[in-house]
Amino acid sequence: MKNYFKISDFIIDPKMREDHAGVPLHVVEKLVRYHLPILNRIREALGFPVIISAHSGYRTYEWEIIHGRSGYSEHTFKGLGAVDLTCEPRHLPQLRQELLKSEYSRIAWYDHKRFFHCDFKDGELGRRFFEVWENGIWREVKDLR
Ligand SMILES: [Zn+2]
Repeated sequence: MKNYFKISDFIIDPKMREDHAGVPLHVVEKLVRYHLPILNRIREALGFPVIISAHSGYRTYEWEIIHGRSGYSEHTFKGLGAVDLTCEPRHLPQLRQELLKSEYSRIAWYDHKRFFHCDFKDGELGRRFFEVWENGIWREVKDLR
């Protein structure tokens, strides 16, 4: 299958992207093994660009702390990692539909930011869809099992 993404698309730190350095090997391997097969398949099926929202894939622990976050995000890739996805506004319902069919165990729609957060956390609880509003609280709206 055609590959539509570059590893640098998933790297939030602009310095890391510029230098092509500092990305841990385990992060690259998780992106290639777990995320790219899903994302390329979805991109192929949709036929329009799927965008890693604001390059939000891998974020270092230090990046999270500097930006006022807890450091426990799946985006730090301690587990299998997370990606934030978006596309042209008119296509968002189609992207949602494809994500709901995917292997991601948690998909969270950030309504005010217009992107889907996708990760593999808590897979033992099934596959779940959440909506997130401005207050940052995740509300489960759909059990996908
Ligand atoms: Zn996210």
